[in-house]
Amino acid sequence: MKRVWIWALCLALLLGGCGGSGAARSEDVSRELFAMDTYMTLRAFGADAAVLESAEALIREIEAELSVTTESSAVYQLNETGAARFSSEAAELARRALALCAETNGALDLTVYPVVRAWGFTTGEHRVPERGELDALCAKVDHRQVQVADDGTVTLPEGFEMDLGAVTKGWLGERLCAYLRERGVESALLDLGGNVQTLGGKPDGSAWRVGVRDPDGEGLLGVVEVRDEAVVTSGGYERYFTDEDGTVYWHILDPSTGMPARNGLISVTVVGAEGLRCDGLSTALFVLGQERAAAFWRASGDFEMLLVTEDGRLLLTPGLAARFTPDAGLCYTLEVLSDVEN
Ligand code: ADP
Ligand code: MG
Repeated sequence: MKRVWIWALCLALLLGGCGGSGAARSEDVSRELFAMDTYMTLRAFGADAAVLESAEALIREIEAELSVTTESSAVYQLNETGAARFSSEAAELARRALALCAETNGALDLTVYPVVRAWGFTTGEHRVPERGELDALCAKVDHRQVQVADDGTVTLPEGFEMDLGAVTKGWLGERLCAYLRERGVESALLDLGGNVQTLGGKPDGSAWRVGVRDPDGEGLLGVVEVRDEAVVTSGGYERYFTDEDGTVYWHILDPSTGMPARNGLISVTVVGAEGLRCDGLSTALFVLGQERAAAFWRASGDFEMLLVTEDGRLLLTPGLAARFTPDAGLCYTLEVLSDVEN
């Protein structure tokens, strides 16, 4: 937890310097909170503190509905009973998330939750499940079996469970931006724990500068310039454990095997206009690995990405390379992905 705070502080310092006082528009308010199992920092310009207070209330409301561990939540009820009525917003979130599961061919799969639990990532009581146990659990992993009815009722087959955790923070970023915009805010920076969402640019008109963490240390890979976009990173370094013989197991699982995804990547950062898509893709592309992630990017073309490989390379899409400043002491070989497969 301490590391998380230090990291959040670094990011805040890096992004600091709103420039000038005086004009109401450039005065900022900020609010720190702990929700959805992570530290969040909301920073908005031209708003008063009450706006962020109600934004926090909105976060808590969303968490109360979507938490997989809170007994009163809709998701908890769904997992207990196989059916639950979601609010229209949460149902829409589920529909979009399931569409992304389909688009990634199940690299993202909301029903992988029981497997995540078997590894102990939900409680911190880590263990390595036997192959037989994983096979039995994987038989009940299939996002295509989740039904979302028009009235918001979500249903699951017997033995299935679902968790929206892989996309909730990204979606929350979108939701908070809409909320702030409705209240006249035109410039905000929301750090939702690994998910950064920007609203507009900085009050002086320049782009936000968002640091991308080095998966292999405490420093930064570099800084990306963004406006009205989300920057989401998924990495093996975020949550993992090491067994007696030194093998590292991390929390991003390949739904087809039930094992931690090991396809040559140690971190994936996705930059794009839709927070939910960026969040879900950062997990999915991590599972897919470099080749398939590049093919996916070429086919969709509505996001930018930065991949860090196990063998020390940093791969950037051309659109991101143009607005990425590498850290001075960067120890990776920088490569720009080609628009066409070579
Ligand atoms: P975090 O929530 O830790 O920032 P991510 O957004 O990358 O991380 O989502 C990873 C979380 O989603 C894991 O902690 C796990 O609960 C779940 N998860 C792991 N692998 C997958 C997967 N392939 N598809 C969907 N959810 C996954
Ligand atoms: Mg994610």
